[in-house]
Amino acid sequence: MVYVKLPRSVDGECDRPDQKGKQIKISRSVLRNDQRHLEALLHEVLHAVAWPLDEEYVAAFARDAARLVIKRGFRSHGKEENND
Ligand SMILES: [Zn+2]
Repeated sequence: MVYVKLPRSVDGECDRPDQKGKQIKISRSVLRNDQRHLEALLHEVLHAVAWPLDEEYVAAFARDAARLVIKRGFRSHGKEENND
């Protein structure tokens, strides 16, 4: 996973599972907002592990799970860690 500059309307991207060198990319712009950061991470990781899931389900899960975790006290402190 890497943090990169993405178009303003894109918080993250996940390459297709059959793509060589596949990767999850998270926009550096989300680092300023814990909810958006966590939501982008969860969203793209869910795509990576369950590619056939509908976008609507992935988006709903990521939004709700991020809200729950943030409510429980998770904070990312804007850290950019490029680990797989
Ligand atoms: Zn998506």
